[in-house]
Amino acid sequence: MQLGKLRLSGFKSFVEPATLSIEPGLTGVVGPNGCGKSNLLEAIRWVMGENSPKSMRSGGMEDVIFAGTATRPPRDFAEVVLSGTRSDGDELEVMRRIERGAGSAYRLNGRDVRAKDVALIFADAATGAHSPALVSQGKIAQVIAAKPTERRQMLEEAAGIAGLHVRRRDAEAK
Ligand code: ATP
Ligand code: MG
Repeated sequence: MQLGKLRLSGFKSFVEPATLSIEPGLTGVVGPNGCGKSNLLEAIRWVMGENSPKSMRSGGMEDVIFAGTATRPPRDFAEVVLSGTRSDGDELEVMRRIERGAGSAYRLNGRDVRAKDVALIFADAATGAHSPALVSQGKIAQVIAAKPTERRQMLEEAAGIAGLHVRRRDAEAK
C-alpha cells in the first residue's frame, strides 16, 4: 500500500487540523526536539488500529487527545484520516476518531465500520501498524546494538520472508 495523505486534528500536539503529504520516497522526518515527529508516526499507527497505549507513549488511549496547554484549552476528541492506494489500485481512506468517554470510532471511505474491519485491511505485517516500514525513534540504535541473529530476524521481517523458515520446516517434516 502506498500511503497518501495524513490529516490530524486534536491528535497529541496537532491541535489545529494539519495535513501531511506522504510522497513516494519519503524516508524520514526531521525537526527540532518536541516538534511532533514521533507523534506523526504514532498517528499513522493509531489510525491503522494500534490499541496499545504503551506504543503511543500514553497511559490510556484517551491520552492521544490534545491535553491543552497554558494558553489553549484541551480538546474533546482526536481525529486522524489516512488515505492511500492499495496494491490493487483501489483508493482507501481510513478515519479514526476518539472522544472522551466514548472510545474509538472508525470510517472506511466514509462509511462507519468496526475496528475489526480496519484491522483486517492492515492485518498484513507489511502494511499494518507494526510494519517494519515504520521505523520509530530508537529503532536504528536497536538494530545496531542487536546480536547478529536478532538483526537477521529484523531484516527477514522487513524483507517479508520471516515466515519462510517455518513453512520450510513444515515442508521438510512432510
Ligand atoms: P524528539 O526530537 O525529542 O524525539 P519529537 O519531534 O519526536 O521530539 P514528539 O515526541 O512527537 O516530538 O512530540 C512531543 C510533544 O508533543 C511534546 O511537547 C508533548 O507535550 C506533546 N504532546 C504529546 N501528547 C500530547 C497531548 N495529548 N496533548 C498535547 N500535547 C501533547
Ligand atoms: Mg521523537
